Amino acid sequence: MNCPTCRSGLDDADACPACTHRVLGWLAELPLLVPLLEDLMHPTAGPARRGGGGRAHSPAPVDLRVLDLLGPGQPVLIADPHGDQTGGIPLTALLYGWARYIATEHPAVRRDRHGTAHIDRCDSAWSRHGGDVAAWCAWLTGYVPYAMTRPWAPEMYDQLEDAVRRARSLTGTVVRRTPKDAPCPACTAFALVAIDGEWHVECEACGHRLTPDEYDAHRAEVMPALAAIALHHLLPRMSAA
Ligand SMILES: [Zn+2]
Ligand SMILES: [Zn+2]
Repeated sequence: MNCPTCRSGLDDADACPACTHRVLGWLAELPLLVPLLEDLMHPTAGPARRGGGGRAHSPAPVDLRVLDLLGPGQPVLIADPHGDQTGGIPLTALLYGWARYIATEHPAVRRDRHGTAHIDRCDSAWSRHGGDVAAWCAWLTGYVPYAMTRPWAPEMYDQLEDAVRRARSLTGTVVRRTPKDAPCPACTAFALVAIDGEWHVECEACGHRLTPDEYDAHRAEVMPALAAIALHHLLPRMSAA
């Protein structure tokens, strides 16, 4: 079986670990981006001036792209063929739309008092944490491994990716890349990085990717030899000094 989103082979895994990890990362990140977006809704009026009867400049207008993300709106689950939704879907509408869709699509097994199993489908989603971005992100988090196996997973993936991309760009959020100490097993460059929210460790020189387990095994294999070489070069210099 292949991942419906990235098409990579899944071996015996139910859901693609790379896509699942990425979506879980976005759902954890979005609630953290909301306060930063809200800050952009209140442009500073500039410093007060002594003796002045008002500010020197009119406040900067609110960026409409921020309103697009934070505003109310209707979820549009199907790709927008005419491109009417230039600003994209607001976050709450997007998240609630998917929660409601999953709730109606996910079979809930219930047993009656005779022990007979019934498969029900819900007609809406309900979150006990309320109805804001954080609440729907928490709700969706529990269903990501299921969602990533469904044929509609690419649509959900693309829409969440787009929302995160817009929120990051407006708030100037940069994804952290942490260099790893072992060299790339494919090209030997010291260019492997762990990227926040990404499942794989990736080589910035050749694009080679390793799962976290593969990286750990590779590191355990090459680092003792590299450390020995480094010591071999360092020790004579230190004793000469
Ligand atoms: Zn995938
Ligand atoms: Zn490489």
